[in-house]
Amino acid sequence: MHYFHYTGNRLCCEGVAVETLARKFGTPLYVYSQRTLEEHFKDLDQALAGVEHLVCFAVKSNSNLSVLRALAGLGSGFDIVSGGELQRVIAAGGDPRQCAFAGVGKTEGEIEYALRQGVYTFNAESEPELERINRVAARLKKQAPVAVRVNPDVEAHTHKKITTGTYENKFGVAFEEIEGVYARASKLRHLRLRGLQMHIGSQITEVAPFEEAVRKVLPLVTRLKERHGLEFLSIGGGLGIVYKPALASGPAAWWRSAAARDILTPQKYAARLVPLLKPLGLRILLEPGRFISGNAGILVTRVEYVKRTGRKNFLIVDAAMNDLIRPAFYEAYHEIVPVRRKAGAMVSSDVVGPICESGDFFCQDRPLPKAREGDYLALMSAGAYGFVMASSYNTRSLAAEVMVKGNRAALVRPRQPVEDIWSGEAAAPWLK
Ligand SMILES: *Cc1c(COP(=O)(O)O)cnc(C)c1O
Repeated sequence: MHYFHYTGNRLCCEGVAVETLARKFGTPLYVYSQRTLEEHFKDLDQALAGVEHLVCFAVKSNSNLSVLRALAGLGSGFDIVSGGELQRVIAAGGDPRQCAFAGVGKTEGEIEYALRQGVYTFNAESEPELERINRVAARLKKQAPVAVRVNPDVEAHTHKKITTGTYENKFGVAFEEIEGVYARASKLRHLRLRGLQMHIGSQITEVAPFEEAVRKVLPLVTRLKERHGLEFLSIGGGLGIVYKPALASGPAAWWRSAAARDILTPQKYAARLVPLLKPLGLRILLEPGRFISGNAGILVTRVEYVKRTGRKNFLIVDAAMNDLIRPAFYEAYHEIVPVRRKAGAMVSSDVVGPICESGDFFCQDRPLPKAREGDYLALMSAGAYGFVMASSYNTRSLAAEVMVKGNRAALVRPRQPVEDIWSGEAAAPWLK
């Protein structure tokens, strides 16, 4: 579901023409729809109304301050994976006491900072980490609230780079070892065992893996609650979205469309999980990222050249893998649509960036409307794991970001000036 749609032949974000934004702010340009973000959050939040819960937006999916602030305004909590993300949340007006600190490699400095800020929980991923948190808390004369991430060893049926809940990967503590870990952690005086956490992967488009994981941990979390007085269970994020085709006829029609029928809706998710979770009597935490931000953003790019080789029609655009790495990194599909729709035949096209890597493409041999130099294209569903994964590879500036609400648009991050890319660098003294 989202609020990017055509009005006549013009692609609009809510009430604003995307072409106007592209001309005003230049390209490559990320454009976010605040209404889409907010409705995703509210849909999920309301679907879970039957159980005490906190939706913690996964900041790593889109950490623009404006995005965080919009969600904080709705009472969202935040799932953070670094001290930097916690600083961002605070800068955006979010509440540290609604933050869950995840990640396998928390440093002492990060733990100290998060303790001082009073995060709701440290989601620990190993015993050495629990010991470290205990040590830092002792030094600060505090008690650290912790949960341990259990690896339930279920297959999430998603891409290998985003599967996290099997024993093949680095995340969490094996299911069989969890009780021993809690027993030992309960002896560490500066820890408070507050919850249990899991996260089985990302872009999961069916309820079954979530249900399987929840069913598997239910007896475990019930025992841990009795023994250690846990107050929450986090069931992680990972709710998948529709990438193909993202552009349906309009928001109202969307949930009734064929695409929506195959996808995980908050209602389907809640209908299967809430009845399992409610009897636990625990607060339920969720950590969705992509579900909230994915379809709330697009990447707008300009066609620089149309290059026809004997066999191919290349559209060389001004966005590249440094702006949006998902196709290169995850073999991800992004729908590509013209910002100004024209009648005419489709041409099998490769949309590629200017970077000197053969992996720098957004699609290959895809039927697309015929395009000319200067046309704008939109890569849909680029709101999650888009700008946040950008780099300045090839000394290319980080793109600009715009937030739209109704008929208003604001530049929420200007394009990075190119000199800023090397502003902290210097020649070694012996080279002077
Ligand atoms: C990445 C991550 C999430 C969010 O994943 P999405 O697929 O974007 O919902 C949630 N929890 C943890 C621990 C993560 O690492």
